[in-house]
Order: sequence, then C-alpha cells, then structure tokens
Amino acid sequence: MTSYLFDPPAIHAIPVSGASAQYPVSRIFCVGRNYAAHAAEMGNEVDREAPFYFTKSPQALLATGAILPYPPGTQDLHHEMELALAIGQPVFRATRDAARAAIFGYGCALDMTRRDLQGAAKDKRRPWDLGKDFEGSAVLAPLTPAEAMGEIGPQRIHLAVNGEIRQDATLDEMIHGVAEIVADLSRYYHLAPGDLILTGTPAGVGAVGPGDVLRGGIDGLAPISLTIGPADQPA
Ligand code: MN
Repeated sequence: MTSYLFDPPAIHAIPVSGASAQYPVSRIFCVGRNYAAHAAEMGNEVDREAPFYFTKSPQALLATGAILPYPPGTQDLHHEMELALAIGQPVFRATRDAARAAIFGYGCALDMTRRDLQGAAKDKRRPWDLGKDFEGSAVLAPLTPAEAMGEIGPQRIHLAVNGEIRQDATLDEMIHGVAEIVADLSRYYHLAPGDLILTGTPAGVGAVGPGDVLRGGIDGLAPISLTIGPADQPA
C-alpha cells in the first residue's frame, strides 16, 4: 500500500439537488467574455469565432452560504454571476450533440475575481492566475440534473448585492452556448466526469467588500449566496 508524506488533498465535492451522492470536482474551466455587454463594459472585443478559457483549481471551491474572507493582494474584489455546467461522461473531440449529452447538470456559480490583479496581468500580457485562481474564488450552489433544467436559453440569471440588483440577463445572451463550449473545449482536453465549466458572466460586475451579502439565481436552479468577511490575518 502506498504511503504519503502528508495527507493527500481532500476531495472537493458539490451537492446534487435531490440526490444523496455529491459530485466530486476535478478541473474547473472558465469561459471569458461570453456575454457581449460584459465584454463591452470591460473594454474588450468579443470573439464570436471561438470561446477562450482560464482555469481555477478545485482548492478554489467554496460552498454557497459561506463567508469568504476578503482575499489577500487585492483592493478590487469583483463578483461574476455565472451558469456552471458539470460534465458527466468522457468527451473528446465531440460533436455538439455528443457534447450536450455529456452534460450531467447545471448550477449557479460565482467567479470571484481580483480585478486589479487581473487588469495588471492583462497590461503586462501575463497569465490571469493571480486574478482568478485563489481560495474561495469558485463559489458553487448545488447542481441540478440537466434533464430537470431543460433547454438552456430563456432562463433569467441575476445577482443582487445587499438586496440591490447588479447583474440581470438571460442565458440566451451567451455568445457561445453550452454544447458549443463543451464541444470546443473537448478539442483540447479529454473532458471527464468531475470537470466543471463556468460559462461566463453577464454585464454588471462590480466591487464588493467586507459585510456585503451577495445573492444570485438562475431560473430552475438552486440559488447561490456569499457573504464577504474581513480580511484573513496571519496567525
Ligand atoms: Mn467569469
């Protein structure tokens, strides 16, 4: 039997509505600039040819309802309300139909972003990791099986901060649809059960600080909430 120098990392899993078994997460892919109005508010052009991606580690996962300590290294923590999809079958170089069939379910997600660090990275043509992949930056609500969600399109996606609506759109405003995203990503990766994809945020992103309460929803899915706490202090 293999022994380890220390306990291997814990499995990070997301509850599934109506089921006792949870969904264990392996990789987290995120789509950039998938709503035209958000790309415009960030001063970016939209690439309608193909989506682009960045990643977060499973250690970035945080469950809905949690308190996120204000993260280190930033003065500009932003909310991004998103539809997450969860892969349920192996999928590689798939057609859109096969890609759609490989989607296990959907959930509400928050792609929390250190916008100042992301902006500095963009300016210097550096990767976005410091801006995007940090502890607590991937907040997930329980997943709903795809068959219970139905076709993606007319559902409203919204986020309020302290009761004030900041983001409000419909999923059919996505430039690249869910099947297209999965099919495209499967040209580059052997996608497998456990892979999550956050599909991008609508317009209305903005800063949050300690004491703020975020509440988001997507029609047909379990809602999501997050409270921003004070900054973590060194022990
Ligand atoms: Mn995002």
